Amino acid sequence: MSDNKQGFNTKAIHSGASPDPTTGARATPIYQTASYVFENTDHAADLFAGKAFGNIYTRIMNPTQDVLEKRIAELEGGTASLAVASGHAAQFIALHPLMSPGNEFIASDKLYGGSINQFNHSFKKFDWNVRWANGNDIDSYKKLVNEKTRAIFIESIANPGGIITDIEPIARVAEDAEVPLIVDNTMATPFLCKPFNHGANIIVHSLTKFLGGQGNSIGGIIVDGGNFDWSKNNKYPDLSEPHPSYHGYKFHETFGEMGISYAVVCRFLALRDLGPAISPFNAFLILNGIETVPLRMKKHSENALEVAKFLQGHSKISWVNYAGLDDSEYKNLAKKYCPDGTGAVFTFGVKGGFDAGVKLVNEVSLFSHLANIGDAKSLIIHPASTTHSQLTDEQLIAAGAGKDVIRVSIGIEDSSDIIDDLNQALEKI
Ligand SMILES: *Cc1c(COP(=O)(O)O)cnc(C)c1O
Repeated sequence: MSDNKQGFNTKAIHSGASPDPTTGARATPIYQTASYVFENTDHAADLFAGKAFGNIYTRIMNPTQDVLEKRIAELEGGTASLAVASGHAAQFIALHPLMSPGNEFIASDKLYGGSINQFNHSFKKFDWNVRWANGNDIDSYKKLVNEKTRAIFIESIANPGGIITDIEPIARVAEDAEVPLIVDNTMATPFLCKPFNHGANIIVHSLTKFLGGQGNSIGGIIVDGGNFDWSKNNKYPDLSEPHPSYHGYKFHETFGEMGISYAVVCRFLALRDLGPAISPFNAFLILNGIETVPLRMKKHSENALEVAKFLQGHSKISWVNYAGLDDSEYKNLAKKYCPDGTGAVFTFGVKGGFDAGVKLVNEVSLFSHLANIGDAKSLIIHPASTTHSQLTDEQLIAAGAGKDVIRVSIGIEDSSDIIDDLNQALEKI
């Protein structure tokens, strides 16, 4: 864990970065290069043998990406991190060192629809088998643990929203099972929720959303908590055993004391071989976004609460599911895990069901109708016909995306303008 005592706002701007040593450039440069010249043949051999750390090829690492990785590791309180091409790539790379064909992982059924798809279909082709637990029902996780289990996967604030996950008791189930807890912290960002403080071992993010913050680039990241003993049992041979594709290296033995063995394996085995590297330009844009993440998350949360209250008082709205509301069933969990706000994204139901929902989406004008969250702009979508359309009716309900559900990601415009836009659209229903 980091011993950097600076505050979150300072870290969001400075962690990992310093003026460029060759040019003095104050902004982190975009190192738009595929590869790097070796000092001499010995240096090259040492880099390839893993005896020296350094840049070889941008599929594996890049100096712009490196600043991004150091900054997120610092903000999350982890030991190291690995940025990749997308949030979904992060989930793939995060599980790759842990899973072998025939293994299982347990996941909450309260997840982003794309993750449910990825787990149910694409991961099954590797014979990585997801077992679905039920939201905050802790026994439903315990019941699924067996000798094939290799990880538990949850979201801190679950997309499409209003759901705060009770991380600590789920972390205890993972600890008893001797498997890591992976938390997707995309919706919260480290500003609103700190999963490592509640027992998580690995954090993943879609950087595309609030960390980038402007809806202009796709990225993802995996953060190593440095708090899991990969050699405690024989479940994780990529970490604990001599690795045949890396000179017989024992990664956990070599890097375990530094608490970075998992991040190293994600980079030098999973990313090296599977390849979803982040582009230096996207790393640069996301890095700039992160500088304002504390300001934006505060404003997103304030605006979302105001809009949720407005909708709750509106005669054409049947229900509003936002954890920041006083009557939310997640209010107490929100206080514990997200004390500074519950984010931008929530769902509500319009009276008149599907048709009224579609009409609302068609009548708003400040809101953008699109499949994303975490932009500075206010966004709206009907999940059942879009992001979650591959799910069965049962899965839709479980994921909080039933047919009458509208999802919004409230932006950082003036809240009065956001409310005016919803108000005029509701009048037309
Ligand atoms: C968007 C999202 C993802 C996937 O990230 P991409 O960058 O789109 O690949 C994963 N988890 C959550 C919670 C998300 O919102």
